[in-house]
Parts: sequence; structure tokens; C-alpha cells
Amino acid sequence: MYVNLIWFRNDLRTLENPAVSAACQNNTFKVIAIYIATPNQWRSHHMAPKQAAFIYHNLISLKNELVHFDIKLYTHQSSTFLNAALYFIKFCLKHDVKNVFYNYEYMLNECERDNLVKKHLHRKKIFMYGFHGSMLLSPHVVKNKKNKTYQVYSPFKKCVLKHLKQLNLASPMLLKKNIKYKKMLTIRPFCYPMEEFDQTIFPIGEKRALYRLKIFCTNKIIRYGLHRNFPYLTSTSLLSPYLSIGVLSPIQCLKYILKKVPNVFSLSKKCTWLNEIIWREFYYYLIASYPILSKNQSIKKWTEKIPWKNNNIYLEAWKKGNTGFPIIDAGMRQLNTLGWMHNRLRMITASFLVKNLFIDWRLGHNYFMSKLIDGNFASNNGNWQWISSTGYNSTPYFRIFNPEIQSKKFDCLGKFILQYIPELKKIPISEIHNPHAWIIKNKVNFNYPAPIINYKLSRKNNLSVFIKTYNIH
Ligand code: FAD
Repeated sequence: MYVNLIWFRNDLRTLENPAVSAACQNNTFKVIAIYIATPNQWRSHHMAPKQAAFIYHNLISLKNELVHFDIKLYTHQSSTFLNAALYFIKFCLKHDVKNVFYNYEYMLNECERDNLVKKHLHRKKIFMYGFHGSMLLSPHVVKNKKNKTYQVYSPFKKCVLKHLKQLNLASPMLLKKNIKYKKMLTIRPFCYPMEEFDQTIFPIGEKRALYRLKIFCTNKIIRYGLHRNFPYLTSTSLLSPYLSIGVLSPIQCLKYILKKVPNVFSLSKKCTWLNEIIWREFYYYLIASYPILSKNQSIKKWTEKIPWKNNNIYLEAWKKGNTGFPIIDAGMRQLNTLGWMHNRLRMITASFLVKNLFIDWRLGHNYFMSKLIDGNFASNNGNWQWISSTGYNSTPYFRIFNPEIQSKKFDCLGKFILQYIPELKKIPISEIHNPHAWIIKNKVNFNYPAPIINYKLSRKNNLSVFIKTYNIH
């Protein structure tokens, strides 16, 4: 009997997975599956131990789900990408595989690995079929009138919406469940540090992820646009960890949006949440279209000449949440505790690192990756380059978030700050956004640091360096 093989990577789900559906279409083929972990690659991407644990648990859940469909999931660990490719080829030969089904990954190394495997397997008459299961659309169809790829978000979004309107959203064939299996299967732990995460916040498995999507779309999507910027409210979906490793797909999100907001594509009926899903699409699209992004280089060439100061004491204070700016510190402590940070705080803390502490955005980018349970290169790189004014469609270099103003606007009563900096509880709420002046005036001894920099001065000095570098490029 011929064998179809599903190669799982960042698509750890059975439903709405085009590679899985295609592999199961022909009943005369036996179907098996494989996942190969690559700890060295993860290390070079600074993958967070919490994310490694999240992948591990979701992989176990996937294995136990697949067994009901009579699909055995094999797992393996290879140190490097090349070793993974070689192992994969041998595996195909050993198991008499005829066809391989997979969803594309878009980064440079991943594409090179896939091309290498494809070339070798083709010679052995084993065929590979790729699908765009991690995106709403194939990146190749989203082109402007001159058939060029987009670099700016607004026209990109317009084009995506146009294509989405015409998209056939019929679900790919559902797998038939036919096997009753009660024993719990497990997997050997990865040779990579794994740190437990709060499973009450990030429950494991695609069923729970889908349930969260459903509840979010039922209860919160309508008010999302109004509430999403306030970090003390749980008003966002918290679905990013699932989307990042493919336990959930953006098409599933779109389908739920359409159930709740049927005329979402008409311009008068805006849906802010769909907008965010399209931002994700934009960053995946950029990675797929511009291989240079995979190298973590600044896109605007002149910004590569910025003489970053990279002061290590400042960097450590930022990482630990000890800068003396409460909204920054609360955000960083949320990241360190949960492995997740609210989007507004990601923007404020990133801007502060780059534009006030004057530290190279890549150091912040790597630190985020090393902590985020939802870390993914496309979104992380895209957003860091946006905030640092170094990338496509990025914010102008003179846009600098003022932490105190942001704090007053989005955490006016200090509810979020106090959750992560309880030592500030004794300070009057009106002073919580900039407590140091009050602490000095009242001569009290607090276990909270003084601001490590003068905000106004740092803004002025660093802006002048940005302007100088821009003018001489
Ligand atoms: P929701 O507000 O519910 O949004 C729904 C989904 O849309 C998210 O799950 C995410 O997949 C997508 N999304 C939302 N905002 C963005 C955005 N700005 N860019 C791209 N996709 C978006 N997101 C990641 O998934 N991984 C990262 O590594 C990552 N790094 C970031 C770094 C910085 C400096 C910044 C400013 C943002 C980063 N984001 C990243 C984007 C965003 O902060 C998170 O996706 C969001 O906070 C996740 O929470 P949620 O699932 O509740 O989002």
C-alpha cells in the first residue's frame, strides 16, 4: 500500500489544514505524519522555553487527536536544518512514502530546506505538495497593478480584502474519525529548555483554541475596537500563541468573523479585529516576498548607520522591568511572568528601548523572542522594524511614545501597573504614572527604582542623532 506523509511544522492542527485534508483525500493510501524538532535552529532564533513547552504539549495533543483518524505521528529531533532534511529523506524511503503534504514556511532557511528535500525526493519519484495553510491567501496572488509586491500596509490590505471577498471558504474535507483509542500517547521531551506556562491562560490543544475563538467572536469582537488598547481589560483574543504555531489558522478566524459580522467586507462595516489578522498577514507576506528580512537586517539602509549606544545597564534594567517608568516596567514584568505582553505595551516598551535608551532594535527583538510564548519571526521582526522606523511601512523616526502620556491614556487608574508593581500601592493613583517626583517630595523610602534616564533629554538627544544620520546618508 502506498503511503501519504503529512509533514507537520508550524501547523499543529487537524482541522482546516489543507495539507492534512489533501493527504487524506484518497482512501487507497495509508496516511502517516511526522514532526521534526530542530533545537539548534530554535536556539539561533532565541525561541522562548515557554514556547518550546507550548509546542511540546500541543504536539502531544495533536498526536492523540491524529490516532483517532488512524494516523500515526512520528517525532524526531535533529540538531540542524540540514540534518532534519537528511533524516526526512531517509524516513520517506524507509516508509515507502509516495507523496508528501506540507504547509509552507516562508523564511529563507526553511525555504532552502524544503527545496533541498523536494529536489532529492523528486529523483526518487516521491512528490511534494505545498499549501499556504498559515496564511489567508497565497502571497503570490497579492500584487499591485504593475504585478509588484506591496511594501505598504494600506494598499496591501485593500488588495487582500478584494481577494478575500472572492475566496471560496468551503472547508477542506473533514477527516473521518474511525478509531477508538483510549490510551494517552506521549512524546520524548525536546532537547531544549522547556518552561511551564500558565495553562489556565493558554490551554492546550486545537479544540480549546477553537472554543476560545468562538467565545471571543461571540462576546468581544464587537467591542474590540473600543477596548483593545487598555491592558487591564482582557479584551483581546489571546489567540496569538495558537496562531504562531498553527494550532489555529487565520482562515478559521476569518470564518468566525464572518459568522458574527457577515458584511465585514463592505467598507462601511469595519471590523478592527480582522484588521489585526491582516497585519499578521502583512508581516508573513513581507517575509515571504523579501528574503532579506529573514536576515534580521534593517530595511531602510540609512538606519543601519545609526550609532546605537547599547548600554548594558540600561538593557538589563529594561529586561527586568526596573527602569523606574511604571508602564514600561509593568509591561516587561508581564512579559517575564506570562510569556505574553499586551500589544499596546509591546509598542511602548519597544519604542522606549530604541528611541530613549538608544539600544539597537535587534537586542529588543531577540529578548522578546526569548520570552514570548507567541514568538514568531515575521510578526516580531515586522513590529520591531515598524516601531524603530527601520522597516517597510514603519512609523516616522520622530514618532516616540511618551510613557507617561501613554500610561495616563491607557491605564488611567493604574490598575495594570499595580498588578505587576505592587510596591507602588501606597502611592496616590494620580502620581502612579510618574511616582518619583512624589517619592522625593514626600521623602519616603520605596523599593522601586528612580527613572534610569531623563525622558525629555533622551528624546531630544536621540532625535538629533536620527536626524544627523538621516541627513548624511
Ligand atoms: P488580538 O488583538 O486578539 O489580535 C488577533 C491576532 O492578530 C493576534 O493573535 C495576532 O496573530 C494578530 N495581530 C494582532 N496585532 C498584530 C500586529 N501588530 N502584528 C502582527 N499580528 C498582529 N505577535 C505575535 O504573534 N508574535 C510576536 O512575536 C509578536 N511580536 C511583537 C513585537 C512588537 C514590538 C509588537 C509591537 C507587536 C508584536 N506582536 C507579535 C503583535 C501583537 O502584539 C500580538 O500579536 C498581540 O498582542 C497578541 O495578542 P492577542 O492574540 O490577544 O491579539
